[in-house]
Amino acid sequence: MDIETRGIVIIGGGPAGLAAAISAKESGAEDVLLIERDRILGGILNQCIHDGFGLHTFGSSLSGPEYAQRFIDRFLELGIDVMEEAIVLSLDKDRILSVSSRKGYQVIHADAVILAMGCRERTRGAISIPGTRPSGIYTAGAAQNLINLENIMVGKKVCILGSGDIGLIMARRMTLEGAHVEAVFELLPYSSGLPRNIQQCLNDYKIPLFLSTTVTNIHGKDRLEGISVAQVGQDRIPIPETERYVACDTLLLSVGLIPENDLSRETGVEMDNTTSGAVVDDSFMTNIPGIFACGNVLHVHDLVDWVSLEATQAGTFAASYVSARERKRTSASIPVIAGEGIRYTLPQKISGERDFTLSMRAISPWRDRFIVLEGNGTKEIKRKKMMRLHPAEMIRIDIKAKEISSFSTLEVRVE
Ligand SMILES: Cc1cc2nc3c(=O)[nH]c(=O)nc-3n(C[C@H](O)[C@H](O)[C@H](O)COP(=O)(O)OP(=O)(O)OC[C@H]3O[C@@H](n4cnc5c(N)ncnc54)[C@H](O)[C@@H]3O)c2cc1C
Repeated sequence: MDIETRGIVIIGGGPAGLAAAISAKESGAEDVLLIERDRILGGILNQCIHDGFGLHTFGSSLSGPEYAQRFIDRFLELGIDVMEEAIVLSLDKDRILSVSSRKGYQVIHADAVILAMGCRERTRGAISIPGTRPSGIYTAGAAQNLINLENIMVGKKVCILGSGDIGLIMARRMTLEGAHVEAVFELLPYSSGLPRNIQQCLNDYKIPLFLSTTVTNIHGKDRLEGISVAQVGQDRIPIPETERYVACDTLLLSVGLIPENDLSRETGVEMDNTTSGAVVDDSFMTNIPGIFACGNVLHVHDLVDWVSLEATQAGTFAASYVSARERKRTSASIPVIAGEGIRYTLPQKISGERDFTLSMRAISPWRDRFIVLEGNGTKEIKRKKMMRLHPAEMIRIDIKAKEISSFSTLEVRVE
């Protein structure tokens, strides 16, 4: 079979893939190809018809499709090559991709690859809720897709498990579509959604949120008839005497997103067990030279604005990698350690040669704390006062190369 040679190939045409493609092209890469398995570009944003997107990037509150369209317009203006309804089936460490599309099966060798495949939702199977298997149980994203894109209403009396942003948005959406949302249940002692979504999606509609509570059983034969819920202890194990029955015909699960990294794993990309995404350096390059990652496939973002910002940088770095100057560059090696109170950092490794933004998440909600950055385990480099820390909100700190160039390790922690 013939192998086609291409410059930069981007896998996934959501906001990450679009921003990476645009910046790669604008940074001088001549040959950029974006491959998207769906029939249209825009990724998950196409089904997110509520507003609130783009406050940082454009200073206005756009719907998901409006936000995506701004990038699609620029993408088309630049004449970037795209294959839609085409799925990347495999990728190897020499950056050889196999692609299935309307044209048939193709093999492509890319000078650089940008992974931008987004994430998928955890399902009932992933959290092992016992009980019968009636209809009426959906992931929140699947319900969002059916309602917003297919015009199919999924139920009338609804319970939601999980108070992440997608669950909160769907509580409001179901209410606006005429359903009655009985309650949102959350396993953790705090919501994992943004505070503005708690206010706008639950409080404004008087939808109750029960914290430290989970679904313990599913009832119903053909269609869901009700669920059992119970409070959980600090160990997150249900307390039997608190179990109660809630009648409902629909249960939406919003219990986490999993970066879609099957391709990355097969390729031998080093993975971070905490983010479930690739380990990258401050140029968004993985351990495999010429393979970059950005967007939700790298780590799950709270705001799409950060996805676009990171992907723009990944596209620029991929463009400089394919220029002859950087072809032999390997991944950077100075480790960034997630210390006390920090769940993960991104990047996980840095070169010490360039300015970068350190993204991280706190492990629990706190008020009046400091984020402390330390070099070689002894020297304090930065201390930033945080009025509020919350696992749902990404912390981003800009770091200059000159601040860190003399260190062989960096550690960040909450104090
Ligand atoms: C159900 C759901 C609802 C969400 N709702 C909100 C919200 O309301 N507000 C908010 O700020 N954020 C929301 N998000 C987060 C949102 O996904 C991200 O902010 C953003 O869309 C991530 O961009 P991305 O490009 O990384 O991923 P995506 O938007 O998921 O795009 C990834 C693209 O890659 C394509 N792809 C994957 N694998 C392949 C392959 N092998 N070959 C070819 N193409 C492939 C997919 O088809 C998809 O188009 C939601 C996420 C989900 C999953």
